[in-house]
Amino acid sequence: MKKLLQICLIVLIGLPAYTQGVDADSKQLCGLTGKELLEVRRDVKKNILSLKAAGKLRFVESDIAAVQQQRLLEPQAPIGIRFDWPMRPKNAEDYRYYHIGNYTDLDTTGEECIRDYNGGHRTYNGHQGIDIGIGPYQWARQKAGDIYAVAAAPGIIVERHDGEFDRNCDWDNITGSTGRGNHVVILHADDSTVSFYMHLKNGSVTNKQIGDAVVAGEILGSIASSGRSTGPHLHFQVNTSWTHPEDDKGFFVDPFFGQFNWTTTVSLWKSQKEYNEPGIYDMETHLGTTMDSYTSNCDSVVSLSTLRTNFQPNNTIGFRTYLIDWVDGSQVVGGVLDPSGNIYHTWGARTNQCTYWNNWCKYNTRGDICRVYHLNENLTLPANAPAGTYTYWVQYNGIITHHYFSVGCLQTMTFSGTQGGRRGFLVSNTITSTSTIAGISSNRITYKADNYVLLSPGFVATAGCEFSASTEGCTTGK
Ligand SMILES: [Zn+2]
Repeated sequence: MKKLLQICLIVLIGLPAYTQGVDADSKQLCGLTGKELLEVRRDVKKNILSLKAAGKLRFVESDIAAVQQQRLLEPQAPIGIRFDWPMRPKNAEDYRYYHIGNYTDLDTTGEECIRDYNGGHRTYNGHQGIDIGIGPYQWARQKAGDIYAVAAAPGIIVERHDGEFDRNCDWDNITGSTGRGNHVVILHADDSTVSFYMHLKNGSVTNKQIGDAVVAGEILGSIASSGRSTGPHLHFQVNTSWTHPEDDKGFFVDPFFGQFNWTTTVSLWKSQKEYNEPGIYDMETHLGTTMDSYTSNCDSVVSLSTLRTNFQPNNTIGFRTYLIDWVDGSQVVGGVLDPSGNIYHTWGARTNQCTYWNNWCKYNTRGDICRVYHLNENLTLPANAPAGTYTYWVQYNGIITHHYFSVGCLQTMTFSGTQGGRRGFLVSNTITSTSTIAGISSNRITYKADNYVLLSPGFVATAGCEFSASTEGCTTGK
């Protein structure tokens, strides 16, 4: 196990921060050992039994009814619980915020090999849960605590722990940690199934106590890297048969339905996600080709001094897209549209050739996917580049995604007084206005700013005028 880990680290350290390639967060691993999981299980079982003895283990009637109904619908299923996704961001986001680092290892043939529910090798030996990584900029998000672990189904808290350091990067070096880290465990309404939420942020764990009920989607804590973990992620694990006194272990259940999943005959997700789920973490424009990024090291500080959306003619622009689940052999194309929406530049198709992954397995399988990959392009603008809002686009997995940037726009514009008889766009990177837009039909004004439009107290758009403000970016036509 240790030797294999070193192989993987050499590959990661070999990547300078500014090149394109596989990101460090492509492969978060928790290294929870069987012994550590057994310790959690024993605590969970002990807590369940003491809650029962005290008469405090009481499920909500409607939750019990839902489980019973599910059992009637799918009598072949081992349990009657159906899970929602156990993670969500604080606010709605334009891009994806998670990727799957590891699935459950369902191989039973011995020490050396691994197999996930789909027959692939996206797991590590003995892994009993699902590792869900976060991004972009996993350490910044860990620090912000803005991605939550949420209860995947209603239930009762039967174990919780907080107070541990939460930025571990090396599973062999977790001094002062219990290994399991900050976590919550919930017993669900079948009185048998529990779900684990591991590696949470220090101080973020719900104030609710053992014995308290939670509803589906309730925040349990923020995603971090406490315990035996090499990067911010949620270890989500399902176990069953917890309430039988003769059972000391509990049995893990991989909730994903698949040919190689011997732990369940149906999906335990309300809506099962695809095995590979291509998506985009972020699209960025940078000044110059030496684009800042977080490094492959354990790093909570993110320098992004080159990141911007406003440029001038003659600038060289670095373009970056963070791709999730880039399947081997699939292509990504991209380019730039000018302010009129015409093709300005197109890059050749890029084909994934990830080769770093599955050397853990005795089969030494070549990698077939990049979990997180930053694809870089660049373009130098001529002196006569037309001013306005440009569009950086990428077509990935059949979907075109856009990012906007401006060239040759004013940095700021400030308006006051009466605006009358004007037509067209007032454009800048930021616009601040206390104007009165007169109510005449010839007065058709659009504020377009790349950064923000601030309509300060005093701003009036009188009925009769046509006024709009947007932050899509500045355009020509002042
Ligand atoms: Zn894990």
